Amino acid sequence: MAQKIITPQGVVYLDGRLTDGQTRCVHYHSGPDVIAIRFKCCNTYYPCYQCHAELAGHEARLWEKAEYRQLAVLCGVCKNQLTIAQYLACGNKCPACGAAFNPNCSRHHHLYFGT
Ligand SMILES: [Zn+2]
Ligand SMILES: [Zn+2]
Ligand SMILES: [Zn+2]
Repeated sequence: MAQKIITPQGVVYLDGRLTDGQTRCVHYHSGPDVIAIRFKCCNTYYPCYQCHAELAGHEARLWEKAEYRQLAVLCGVCKNQLTIAQYLACGNKCPACGAAFNPNCSRHHHLYFGT
């Protein structure tokens, strides 16, 4: 069941195999694993692509480069949403609260952000 999250940029939905209130999940739960990504296919935030694959019941659709100004990354610490462009340029640190994001996520960007 997706949960409703109130962010400074509006109400969003978060689903996944969450393990805490900062968007860590059963797959990625180290200290800096605190972002969720909004999937274009279902307009829902998930902590990772595996959560989406296990729970969504459909194929993930990737964001296209022309859509990088969409709010699609949620900071699990302060619940601010970032655009994809802001996230990719943030140096693995939340621009709103300074929380550290896991730099290893960049190895998986192709599973979320297309061309
Ligand atoms: Zn989806
Ligand atoms: Zn996950
Ligand atoms: Zn933050």
